[in-house]
Amino acid sequence: MREAAHPSAGDILSGNGLSADELGGGTLAVHTPIDGSQLASLKVHSPDDAQAMIFRCIETFWTWRLVPAPRRGGLVRLFGEELRAAKADLGHLVSLEAGKILQEGLGEVQEMIDICDFAVGLSRQLYGLTIASERPGHAMRETWHPVGPCGVITAFNFPVAPFAWNAALALVCGDPVIWKPSEKTPLSALATAKIFARAAARYKDAPEFLLQVLIGGQRAGEILVDSRDVPVISATGSTRMGRAIGPKVAERFGRSILELGGNNAMVVAPSADLEMALRAIVFSAVGTAGQRCTSLRRLIVHEEIYDRLVPRLLDIYKRLPIGDPLADGILVGPLIDARAFEDMQRAIAEAKADGGRVHGGGRALEERYPNAHYASPALIEMPGQTDIVRHETFAPILYALKYRDFAEAVDLQNAVPQGLASCIFSTDVRETEAFLSAVGSDCGIANVNIGPSGAEIGGAFGGEKETGGGRESGSDSWKAYMRRQTNTVNYSRALPLAQGIHFEI
Ligand code: NAD
Repeated sequence: MREAAHPSAGDILSGNGLSADELGGGTLAVHTPIDGSQLASLKVHSPDDAQAMIFRCIETFWTWRLVPAPRRGGLVRLFGEELRAAKADLGHLVSLEAGKILQEGLGEVQEMIDICDFAVGLSRQLYGLTIASERPGHAMRETWHPVGPCGVITAFNFPVAPFAWNAALALVCGDPVIWKPSEKTPLSALATAKIFARAAARYKDAPEFLLQVLIGGQRAGEILVDSRDVPVISATGSTRMGRAIGPKVAERFGRSILELGGNNAMVVAPSADLEMALRAIVFSAVGTAGQRCTSLRRLIVHEEIYDRLVPRLLDIYKRLPIGDPLADGILVGPLIDARAFEDMQRAIAEAKADGGRVHGGGRALEERYPNAHYASPALIEMPGQTDIVRHETFAPILYALKYRDFAEAVDLQNAVPQGLASCIFSTDVRETEAFLSAVGSDCGIANVNIGPSGAEIGGAFGGEKETGGGRESGSDSWKAYMRRQTNTVNYSRALPLAQGIHFEI
């Protein structure tokens, strides 16, 4: 399969070890957005199945937490090795199921490999602190322990990478995982589980059920969310979903890691390198057909350079190759479904009613793919940041706005409900440092001279405000998958109380 430039859907499914038996006989219809054809009708797990999974996960936790963390890292190392071997197969499946171009499908698997590498190192670095005690003959320290089953709920647009950001860390931290993938992209999850099973078989004494995949829609996710036996819920998806589950997890004093919608901006300053900015704008605005949480949605351009930048951008937009994401040379694939296309058209109509000048945005390749939804990316010149600009429409729409001074640009960037990714193109260090300062961008991610999308795994990923506040992947995100314990040890022969309190009996 790897030799062929464009394998068929059947080849991709069988290359990932998905059998006809697994793919049929159920009620969950899975379609490829490439041509709308049906790939599978999966069996959905019942609420009882989900409860049984949780029960098995608890038992697995009791065993897995006893395995030393560096040994747990050994399993994640093998998972990374198996992912390397399966990169081409799984990358094709991600493209087939989510509709992103093959380069991005492969990139997503590479992210899984990268986070496995990171987690292997981390498994020897789950460091606590030693803390100075105020009492003689006493030692204080902070230790980290596994916390329990981790529920991972993921979105359609990144069918596998966010799972791995969570699972690789959770596993080295000692927590087994139940994964509820998007009902639109469950096949990539089933294929990933097979890759994990190969790693677990090579590891030999891995307990069963370290990774279980829960197939279903919102209801399946709710069972994880409502269960007191799942202390950590990491959920990636829309702000609507986060608003529903956040309070439920909080109500039972669980821990949620929320990775929700974004409305990401780029400020282009007069000193910017426009050639670099152009490439970054196009990749981040039309990559994954505008269906990344970090997609560029708002372009805030200084009025002095607006007329140099925007016409060139429009020229590039006219020439963008749209089509089958598995074919060579294509840069823009389809939207996930009809509803996404309708949302896009509604947003364009609203922007137009607000005085926006619309370029592009119509349906593409309709004759060739009557059952799929390709769209030419839209660039809309807006007179101001109206309601629709402040809303995340999950489609390739880029709103262009003018600004006059730097403070106005920062105000525009921050004046949206979401707070995921932001960036500035400028060669003026006063501006770039101010953008990253306490009075600059209010987002979880703020970049200089690169676009808002395409983060590396080494940093903590996530955003503020309606993006949910969660952080996953690199830096110290691992702490969310462990419980912190403060220990005070008295090795003296006396029992002094803290704060000098006298209490004699
Ligand atoms: P979605 O919210 O429709 O679904 C996401 C997942 O949540 C699915 O698995 C779904 O079944 C589940 N779900 C939905 N409602 C639920 C509920 N009440 N209880 C439990 N589970 C529930 O999102 P989508 O359309 O698949 O993905 C697109 C959205 O995800 C966009 O808003 C995008 O910005 C966001 N996203 C965010 C990030 C990030 O890291 N911040 C990454 C990718 C996608």
